[in-house]
Amino acid sequence: MFKFWKARNFDCSKAAADLQSYLDGEIGAETASKISSHLRQCVGCKTEAVKFERIKLALQRQNAPVNAEIIENLQQFASNIADPNQA
Ligand SMILES: [Zn+2]
Repeated sequence: MFKFWKARNFDCSKAAADLQSYLDGEIGAETASKISSHLRQCVGCKTEAVKFERIKLALQRQNAPVNAEIIENLQQFASNIADPNQA
């Protein structure tokens, strides 16, 4: 599913691994700027970043239920990145 943009962009697995920390602001400035520039040129990772941000906002508000399906998709995305042989 993610093979197309993964093959084109070597940084996707790195970006995905650090995406959540990046959005939480728990990451070094150097890595943050790398991820931020990657997100500008990679639609696949940008889409995931938007999903992460939506979940984060929902959790912060506490009044918007988080869609379990979205979390499952995120977990699948993460495991696909971590182990491409199972993708
Ligand atoms: Zn990417």
